Amino acid sequence: MSPQPVHLPFDNRFGQLPERLYTRLNPTPVKEPSLFAFNQALGAELGLQRTDENEAELAQIFSGNTVLANSDPMATAYAGHQFGHWSGTLGDGRAILLGDVETSSNQHLEVQLKGSGRTPYSRGGDGRSWLGPVIREYLISNTMPHYGVNSTRALAAVTTGEFVLRENGPLPGAILTRVASSHTRVGHFEYLASQQDAAGVEALINHLITYHYPDLQNDEHKPLALLNAVIERQATLIASWQALGFIHGVMNTDNASLVGETIDYGPCAFMDEFNQRKVFSSIDRQGRYAFENQPRVGHWNMAMLAQSLLPMLSADESESLAMAQAAVDRFPTLYAEAYAMRMKDKLGLFNTTAEVAIELTEKLLLLMQADAVDYTIAFRALSDSNQDSFIELFDDAVAITDWVSDWQAEVNQSEDELDVNRMQSVNPAVIPRNHWVEAVIQAAVHGDWTLFDEFEHALSQPFTFHPKFSLAPAVEERVTATFCGT
Ligand code: AMP
Ligand code: MG
Repeated sequence: MSPQPVHLPFDNRFGQLPERLYTRLNPTPVKEPSLFAFNQALGAELGLQRTDENEAELAQIFSGNTVLANSDPMATAYAGHQFGHWSGTLGDGRAILLGDVETSSNQHLEVQLKGSGRTPYSRGGDGRSWLGPVIREYLISNTMPHYGVNSTRALAAVTTGEFVLRENGPLPGAILTRVASSHTRVGHFEYLASQQDAAGVEALINHLITYHYPDLQNDEHKPLALLNAVIERQATLIASWQALGFIHGVMNTDNASLVGETIDYGPCAFMDEFNQRKVFSSIDRQGRYAFENQPRVGHWNMAMLAQSLLPMLSADESESLAMAQAAVDRFPTLYAEAYAMRMKDKLGLFNTTAEVAIELTEKLLLLMQADAVDYTIAFRALSDSNQDSFIELFDDAVAITDWVSDWQAEVNQSEDELDVNRMQSVNPAVIPRNHWVEAVIQAAVHGDWTLFDEFEHALSQPFTFHPKFSLAPAVEERVTATFCGT
């Protein structure tokens, strides 16, 4: 019996937007696609299963060689501020939106190929991706939801059988299929606003409210309501990164999602030893996107969003400026509240006040930074019935013992006993550590996929200790630089 052909019931709601926002085109076929990863859980949501029988067909689909019926492939147009400077039009230079699919729980998810060939927005680029960044995004984006972090997810990844040329020579090409509730970015509004396209801005506001913020449908002032809601989601998102020790690396406005998902995994990485000024990205020479700057940059990105919505807020210029300012000014408080919630839980102080949690957190982070303590391991060690192994992580035993007694006093004051199970359910034991991500990439480049499979499996249960992947890198194993995702 021959297998059923693969079917995805595509629609494309983005294609209802004004044509200025996209260019319809098909992916550029590749030579010999081979599926090396498929997210079965996400596939199930979309009504798709990988089997031995359909693997070759999935590789054709998720390389862009086969375009399924009703799919409406397009590259979208956006602009943006990169590293604080206006860059003008950017757009999907190597991504193609295939459309959206309704899930088993009646959610619509957009499906996009990344690395699928040149588009009108490719500028000097080749529209392709090499295997390294595809593996990095596949592993990290699929782990984020386990930590309660909103994110695009990876559905599939293929090698292309072609090489792409990069600075250091030819590298194996790959294509990632990513899924988001929406891939719209602040840069989509900036693009329309920079062309004084008020009708376009209004259409995008209505699109977002209809499909992604339905609670705002009856709001009297939709543009303002949307601005406030995006600010809230971004503040919450960045708080979740800070609590995890995640560094996005390229927080340009074109990489800031309008639905509050982590998007565009490029040179991102998780910190090992705690350092507020940590930067991994090789192109971020000024440290603009250093760990400690992420909340401030998120705030700045929201100011750029507000600016592009100004004409929609009020006909009176000074009134619309005041409205925008008031909305943007909420960011620091929203961020602080969301961060305190996360840190309360990480400290096991489920019933304490935000003030107490933040004071303890700040003191602890200073000690971690002074002694270059591994962030993830420290919180995990604190989630134990006694604090001996936690204290041992620090060089300054006196200072950390003092901190532990302050913390203990708070634990004793709270109504609950120390709930180590609950703490362990929010303090991961496994993160996609940079040295392992790099090792997986190196092995895969040489055709060995066992480490990829092993790491992917450990990351699917990130609150369970793993004898290999839970450990911090030895000093000589540390990988401190990441390269942009091209
Ligand atoms: P990123 O920093 O990866 O979000 O990319 C910034 C811009 O450069 C976006 O418009 C991308 O589509 C574009 N871009 C990145 N890499 C490539 C590539 N290899 N070919 C074409 N465009 C690219
Ligand atoms: Mg981008």
